[in-house]
Amino acid sequence: MKNEKDPTKIMAELLKSGATMLAEICPVEGCNLPLFKLKSGEVICPVHGRVHIVKTDEEARLVFTQVYTSQILEKLEAYTLKTIDSLLNSSDVDPTDLIKWLEVLERIQRLKTKK
Ligand SMILES: [Zn+2]
Repeated sequence: MKNEKDPTKIMAELLKSGATMLAEICPVEGCNLPLFKLKSGEVICPVHGRVHIVKTDEEARLVFTQVYTSQILEKLEAYTLKTIDSLLNSSDVDPTDLIKWLEVLERIQRLKTKK
């Protein structure tokens, strides 16, 4: 047996040190202990220590949106390039069409560099 501390004791110590108990539970499977927010702002599990969690729904949405947006931009860029390519391969290119797609491409690239 390792010198495992009693989680409830650690939790009591955390509370004494000014940490606050959060409504969220530890994301480690089978743990289910409440997470604590330290004065430093760090969020920890009494047993697992610092755990990577997103603190709010807002934050979760943000992470999700960033991943999702970059995936969509990649797809959009590939599609735009393909479209421009096929425009160039067609026998009579409509310049306004080409400009339209180049504008789309420019916007995509601007969005990609924004982060
Ligand atoms: Zn835990």
